[in-house]
Amino acid sequence: MTVAAFGVRGERLAPHTSLRIGGPADYFVRVATERDLVDAIQVAREHELPVFILGGGTNVLVADAGIRGVVLRNSWREATPDGTTVMASSGTELAHVAATAAKAGIEGLEWMATVPGTVGGAVHGNAGAFGSETADALVEAELMDLNGDTWTAGVEELGYAYRTSALQGTPIVCVRARFRGTAGDRAKAVQRIKEMANERMQKQPLAQPNTGSIFRNPPGDHAGRLIEAAGLKGRTIGGAMVSPKHANFIVNVGDAAASDVRALMTVCQDEVQKQFGVTLVPEVELVGEW
Ligand SMILES: Cc1cc2nc3c(=O)[nH]c(=O)nc-3n(C[C@H](O)[C@H](O)[C@H](O)COP(=O)(O)OP(=O)(O)OC[C@H]3O[C@@H](n4cnc5c(N)ncnc54)[C@H](O)[C@@H]3O)c2cc1C
Repeated sequence: MTVAAFGVRGERLAPHTSLRIGGPADYFVRVATERDLVDAIQVAREHELPVFILGGGTNVLVADAGIRGVVLRNSWREATPDGTTVMASSGTELAHVAATAAKAGIEGLEWMATVPGTVGGAVHGNAGAFGSETADALVEAELMDLNGDTWTAGVEELGYAYRTSALQGTPIVCVRARFRGTAGDRAKAVQRIKEMANERMQKQPLAQPNTGSIFRNPPGDHAGRLIEAAGLKGRTIGGAMVSPKHANFIVNVGDAAASDVRALMTVCQDEVQKQFGVTLVPEVELVGEW
């Protein structure tokens, strides 16, 4: 396979992110199978191109200048129940894992239905909701380095803490992951998913492009409460606005540039620091060429 055969050149990444923001990838390739994923990484290596794995694009702020090298959009979707576990490929939406579990009468993974994005993104960032997180449900993950070598890591090897893992800041790719629930009742699990989804709809500005929580919650407090108390709800820079519905969401209300969102994040961090002495740490990952 050659680089030319291997992807779209200069594909704008905005349509591939939940914020609808982001400049071009030098090369963009959608992978839909394990073979695609392995081959694409191999071709990138042969051409000495950096690789960025994009899952659902729901936790990234992609620079206006885009991402150099190869962006692999992971659409490889497979989820199989096995006893009280579900084995899922890294491109599977977390919601599909929740649905697969519920259908098989596995309880405890319902929260996954409310977190957008893929298994790979969740394993990378320890995504969580409703008091549960990936680290609680993950049994093991199959990982791959950019040489194509694979190994299986147990959850205890992945350095999980609140929205962080040992994978962050490394080029290690999650290939697939196994999650564990408990033997339960299909109807109950389905009902719980509906309740959680409804609760989300009421609290979050889901109708406007966003990237979920912009900042991590500081210990013992909520980033949204602090940003609201700092008087920043509704504050706008360019097309980016602090959501009037939930202050820890920045929404794209027009043609927001990545630089607008970044500038608004800085305003939130500066004001919260000045008024309350609290440092807000981004949850969203700033990626690409800033
Ligand atoms: C409306 C909304 C609500 C949200 N609510 C929550 C919530 O309740 N809880 C929560 O934790 N998050 C939440 N998020 C954020 C987001 O859904 C999670 O962070 C999610 O896990 C990101 O997954 P993704 O596939 O979209 O990752 P992406 O945004 O595509 O990527 C994020 C990072 O993961 C890496 N990555 C992706 N796939 C792989 C892989 N296969 N191997 C290695 N690295 C990989 C990327 O390279 C990147 O560094 C929300 C987002 C939105 C838009």
